[in-house]
Amino acid sequence: MKSMHSIDMETVEMTLDIMKYAINRISNTNPELGSPVREEELLNRVGETVTKEGIGGEKAFQMFKDVLVKTAVPADHPRHLAFVPAAPTRAATLFDLVTSASSMHGAYWMTGGGGIFCENQAMKWLVSLTGLPEGAFGVFTSGGTSANLSAMIAAREAWRDRNEDNRAYKALLITSNGAHSSVKSMAKVIDADIILVDDDEDDRLTGKWLQKAIDDLSELDRKRLFAVVATGGTTNAGIIDELDTVADVCEKENLWYHVDAAYGGGALAAPSVRHLFTGIERADSITIDPHKWMFSPYDCGAVIYKDLELAKNAHSQKGSYLDIFKDPGAQGFNPSDYQIQLTRRLRGLPLWFSLAMHGTDKYTEAIERGLELAQNAAQQIEAAPHLELVRDPSLSCVLFRRVGWNPDNYRDWTYDNHKAGFALVTPTKWTKNGKTETISRFCFINPDTTEKDIEEILASMK
Ligand SMILES: *Cc1c(COP(=O)(O)O)cnc(C)c1O
Repeated sequence: MKSMHSIDMETVEMTLDIMKYAINRISNTNPELGSPVREEELLNRVGETVTKEGIGGEKAFQMFKDVLVKTAVPADHPRHLAFVPAAPTRAATLFDLVTSASSMHGAYWMTGGGGIFCENQAMKWLVSLTGLPEGAFGVFTSGGTSANLSAMIAAREAWRDRNEDNRAYKALLITSNGAHSSVKSMAKVIDADIILVDDDEDDRLTGKWLQKAIDDLSELDRKRLFAVVATGGTTNAGIIDELDTVADVCEKENLWYHVDAAYGGGALAAPSVRHLFTGIERADSITIDPHKWMFSPYDCGAVIYKDLELAKNAHSQKGSYLDIFKDPGAQGFNPSDYQIQLTRRLRGLPLWFSLAMHGTDKYTEAIERGLELAQNAAQQIEAAPHLELVRDPSLSCVLFRRVGWNPDNYRDWTYDNHKAGFALVTPTKWTKNGKTETISRFCFINPDTTEKDIEEILASMK
């Protein structure tokens, strides 16, 4: 009897069908902007798909193509400017298929050697962008959330190892109001308390404000404080904290300094804005998401440490079945030693292949294009009587208001554009001087977005 691992005509046909779909999809620069459908409705349309006998690959794939994928919003649509969109290169997406097909275990050099070599080549470039000193290195994670978590764990363990008394305290960390939600929720995961510091007039966390927050702590809280998280490009507004002065305070106060550049990290490769990140080279750890502004397919984050040994102390897993690596060729970099995951996909491979194919200059060009689109959008907004810039663009984020609109108007506009398959641009909230306002926001990642796309979207607000 044939098993599900055997190769027969059906498998061959399915392979061809799937490769054909993949080729068509990655060469499509204007994929349909799917709109969401309730789960019951989807079940109505496709029925139960997992049954005792199976419904057959052909039918399942047909449903996926005709119904299911159409209810998802493709992150690489050029008029998807909400959240942080994505725009994986074709090379990276194709190599994601190769990564799966190669079935490599990415936890240990012993099993993943050549693949880890490739990941590390890509990592070497990422690390070089940060300007961290010799010896700094990192590892690819499932995303910014797990990169932030991995860094926070390394920070807390280093703090405890430095002084056994620290084990008696519940850990406390400081970040800013603009920090990403994952920082707050990962603090919960490690059972740490968190203090949110107000931003300065320019909406940044600065050394001055950080110092003030530390000086205001009770004696007990000061003992509990182990880390500061600054942001290298807030997700909502692209704002970069004053990384250099925050570094000064962290050094003076002997605190672990983490920079969350999950979204903004791509801009480290852009000469026009690189100076805004001055001070990042003094961080103890940095998060960068290649699946955001480095054109990798989901999911791919990265955590980089100044001192890898501290990460290893926190994350290395011991198991009796792991002590078998006798072969000298098996001795090498084990990604599982530096982040929370053991078994892992070699998720840095798509980035590596794309970098190897195109070269890093092309990355610089594509990232500069996102910055240019933000500047162009700002000019178009300033020239339009019905629109106002809320603040100058930071990185590739543009916050703007439609004069006279209330939150319902923004919501209806988003809905109408999405429903029409035209664009996905969502409202956001912006707080200034204690006043919170609903506004609109662009975030540019995709170099295929055009000035005309922006013009048409803005015209739809008339
Ligand atoms: C997106 C983002 C995260 C979370 O990253 P995921 O990859 O979604 O887990 C964390 N921090 C910042 C600043 C982000 O923009």
